[in-house]
Amino acid sequence: MEVIQSVETLRERLERAGRVAFVPTMGNLHEGHLSLMRLARKHGDCVVASIFVNRLQFGPNEDFDRYPRTFEADREKLEREGVDVLFAPTEQEMYATPQVYRVQPPPVGDELDGQFRPGFFHGVCTVVLKLFNIVQPDIAVFGKKDRQQLKIVRGMVQQFNLPIQIVPGETVRADDGLALSSRNNYLTPVERTEAPRLYRMLREIADAIAGGRTDYANLEAAGRAELARHGWKVDYIAVRNGIGLRIPHPEGFDHPNLLIVLGAATLGATRLIDNVDVTPKDGED
Ligand code: AMP
Repeated sequence: MEVIQSVETLRERLERAGRVAFVPTMGNLHEGHLSLMRLARKHGDCVVASIFVNRLQFGPNEDFDRYPRTFEADREKLEREGVDVLFAPTEQEMYATPQVYRVQPPPVGDELDGQFRPGFFHGVCTVVLKLFNIVQPDIAVFGKKDRQQLKIVRGMVQQFNLPIQIVPGETVRADDGLALSSRNNYLTPVERTEAPRLYRMLREIADAIAGGRTDYANLEAAGRAELARHGWKVDYIAVRNGIGLRIPHPEGFDHPNLLIVLGAATLGATRLIDNVDVTPKDGED
């Protein structure tokens, strides 16, 4: 595996690389990330991973400085997975001058995570667009773990006519259901045993909807209350239609197969997000 830091060198390396499949990450790699590398391998001749902790998508009081950076271990994992190229630019390489041009995400970017992390999707879309222009991949893999991100990136690719196929990867979970995340490292042992409640809660709501319930607001409120009772600070528990992430019709006209239940909540000092499909399915709506 070649480790490349400069845009120029990367461009040269990829000139005759065939079909390029790209997986952007912020590092501190776990099995979830590695599953995306395997998926990328199925779609491309040359798998490019990137590691870049993107300052633009962190709020002033968020964890940019303490975000786990484990480059050597990450490099070894990618090497073992047979990744062809690791693009690991410095901040200077990515933001040689202050990034004053930004991508304006669609209105849904101000909802859910965007409501609680103002500017987050501006930062995500801007860095993803830059990475897409640098790598010029044929396909790019994004995890369903970050469902709103996946949908917003997909919309950006469509509206800007980028010739890139976005491939969704299923969420990889620990045995107790907790979605793998770099931020799980922040959890204390006690919090780690409590953490799977978020997933269980989302699954319970999804199962209730699959069983015929359409009183989404009640289900959301009960979920929020239950998490709060166990010490969580809940940002949102939300039932949405997978198409456009719009709020479902209150009288249950949305087909349950299209519904998704999303949640974000903080346990101690750690903010966790997760989501489930009402009807589990491969791929994305
Ligand atoms: P991050 O390094 O957190 O920016 O994530 C990089 C990519 O990995 C994103 O597309 C995430 O959605 C994806 N990802 C993160 N956690 C998981 C997981 N548990 N399972 C599958 N994909 C994941």
